[in-house]
Amino acid sequence: MHNVTLNNGVEMPILGFGVYQIPPDQTEQAVTDALAAGYRLLDTAAGYGNEEALGRAIKASGIPREQLFVTTKLWVQDGPAGDNTKRAFDTSLRRLGLDHVDLYLMHQPYGDVYSQWRAMQDIYREGRAKAIGVSNFYPDRLVDLIEHNEVAPAVNQIETHPFFQRTAEQDIMRERGVQIESWGPFAEGRNNLFTHPVLSGIAEEHGRSVAQVVLRWLVQREVVVIPKSVRADRMAENIAVFDFGLTDEEMARIAALDTGASLFFDHRDPTMTSRLGKVRVTD
Ligand code: NAP
Repeated sequence: MHNVTLNNGVEMPILGFGVYQIPPDQTEQAVTDALAAGYRLLDTAAGYGNEEALGRAIKASGIPREQLFVTTKLWVQDGPAGDNTKRAFDTSLRRLGLDHVDLYLMHQPYGDVYSQWRAMQDIYREGRAKAIGVSNFYPDRLVDLIEHNEVAPAVNQIETHPFFQRTAEQDIMRERGVQIESWGPFAEGRNNLFTHPVLSGIAEEHGRSVAQVVLRWLVQREVVVIPKSVRADRMAENIAVFDFGLTDEEMARIAALDTGASLFFDHRDPTMTSRLGKVRVTD
């Protein structure tokens, strides 16, 4: 597996497995299958409700902890943010059955972001998160956080796919030493991504699937990516993207698909509770 090096020297696989929208009772099997397929980066969140199942799969796999890279995320908290952040982190660790995570992300740029970040800095300094970062941050909020805190985010996990490519944001992040990580690499199939004529044409030229072309395109852009699937055949397909390459001309054809707009984010529902439900992380 190819790695990227984060701004604190931590190595992170460039391709991993995401478990959003996998029901808790299917998550242990899905993660077991993903680990068998070779995935070592696992991406969950307190808000997904499946940390315990993911932790069980890790334990049952027998894979040494140091070979895995586990990410979980802080859900936007009610009440005093600093204390709640540490309590939420402890709860996530307990659910995962781990003594540390490799990456702890603030899920959204909402609530008392500064207090939450300072608590995350403490968690990082204690070594209980090997790296800390953010998710769904636009550049202005990201730069503000970097300028006015001691630890800069190692990662910003944002919606990134052929229809919303985030290249300008990636440039800003690169200048600031923040690794871009894609969520929703297939746009969850929206815009008929899997049958899109441009993507299908490139896939045919290589004898590959559209999913593989999209993942290869992201990896070539040095974007960390965490596709989700509950199907073992697709897990194997999605990780098999390191033995072919896209030409500059093919990269340019995909670049032309960018609409510059989100397919998910609804400014009338900034905390995305319509997608994830009202989650409150407590013991
Ligand atoms: P996604 O990976 O873009 O799309 C997943 C969908 O694609 C599923 O319906 C899956 O179906 C299908 N699929 C997967 N591989 C396929 C293949 N090879 N051929 C055809 N269909 C395929 O969407 P996502 O789950 O939203 O994003 C990935 C991960 O990013 C999440 O799991 C989560 O870890 C993270 N995420 C983070 C945020 C955030 O706010 N930070 C938001 C969303 C997601 P099957 O499962 O039936 O195969």
